[in-house]
Amino acid sequence: MSATTIRAPRGTLDLLGPAAAAHERVRARAAALFASAGYEQVETPIFEATELFVRGVGEATDIVEKEMYTFEDGSGRSLTLRPEGTAPVCRAYIEHGMHKRPAPVKLWYWGPFFRYERAQSGRYRQFFQVGAEAFGSADPALDAELIALLVSLAQELDVRGVTLRIASLGTSESRAAYREELRAFLRAHETELAPEVRARIDANPLRAFDAKDARTAAVMARAPLLLDRLSAADAEHFAAVRELLGEAHIAFEIDPRLVRGLDYYTRTVFELSSSELGAQSGVGGGGRYDRLIEQLGGPPTPAIGFAAGIERLLLASSAQPAAAALAPALYIAFGAGEPQGAERTRAFALWQEALAAGIAAQIELCGRSLKRALAHADRLGAPYVAILTGQQLALRDMRAGEQRQCSVRELLAAISGGER
Ligand code: AMP
Repeated sequence: MSATTIRAPRGTLDLLGPAAAAHERVRARAAALFASAGYEQVETPIFEATELFVRGVGEATDIVEKEMYTFEDGSGRSLTLRPEGTAPVCRAYIEHGMHKRPAPVKLWYWGPFFRYERAQSGRYRQFFQVGAEAFGSADPALDAELIALLVSLAQELDVRGVTLRIASLGTSESRAAYREELRAFLRAHETELAPEVRARIDANPLRAFDAKDARTAAVMARAPLLLDRLSAADAEHFAAVRELLGEAHIAFEIDPRLVRGLDYYTRTVFELSSSELGAQSGVGGGGRYDRLIEQLGGPPTPAIGFAAGIERLLLASSAQPAAAALAPALYIAFGAGEPQGAERTRAFALWQEALAAGIAAQIELCGRSLKRALAHADRLGAPYVAILTGQQLALRDMRAGEQRQCSVRELLAAISGGER
């Protein structure tokens, strides 16, 4: 009886050849883009103390309420697989005293993130994000810089059908007054709201704008808007961001109903979506979070960041992924099919010498006859085949169809020379 097979967990993807290469290409492009703008790479752990996300992302968010992969380790500590990157990067910023560095401190990251969401095309339970965070400046030019970087990344990756939406959520002071007004409005329409929106009227009334439910959406179309209630300073900040984007010819729409799924935002928020993506249209998004560092125990530090989803960038991109080239320069085969006597040892030594000389090499490992081994080498695209027969070594030039006896040194020299 054969054992039952085990499948990958729902909502996860195996990245086979071309898909892995496509991810790597995005990573390389992002690395170059961020380096050119002075962003330093940071890699934080895959898991963090659960408390970081409860405090950092906010208790009344979808992420913390129902999407976290939380577990206890052997000592009974509650840990969580990171569902997003901002809180961990902020934790690292505080923990390593980066506020003592000259501001702004600019960081970027890349890696897998985990959310227990309903899996569908473009929405996974493990997905990759690339993101950037900049700390220590409230200048609207920094908001424009992060938005421009997200737009540039999408452009470089040939993401099609792109729309950029922006809004301002004001500072927490101006938002507090607005929240009260919105709560009163929601209570007045309580019977028309979806149960989860009703349940959050006190804790997170703004999330009502995010609701998919049609009746709730109809109510929210008449709701008072935060954008109309900004303080003079917030409105001025938002106007400066818009002006800079205009100067840079970055097209955007103002979306007064744009509410990002995380609690920590203040002032500018933005989202880039693609018409190529269907229901899960968000490619990337972010915003300013001027109070978060303080909430996590650091000194008051204005900051802003964004994250983009790699799978979605690729789904919306017109670039076709290509597998990495793996053709060996040298294939090592055996004149008698199965290696005889010390042939296997000699083949292994030759393989190591070839790699050390910078020559991509592979050994025949499946006992193919010489004829089949040559056919296999041809299929792999190897221009040279070494044929070991007893003590003898021959080099076959596959393109010329010529074969000659030689020493190991001559063989390596011929291939290195031939490759030049
Ligand atoms: P967020 O942290 O929710 O603002 O997400 C930022 C970006 O990450 C989104 O615009 C998506 O591109 C991507 N993303 C978020 N959640 C998922 C998911 N479950 N699967 C795939 N991509 C995701």
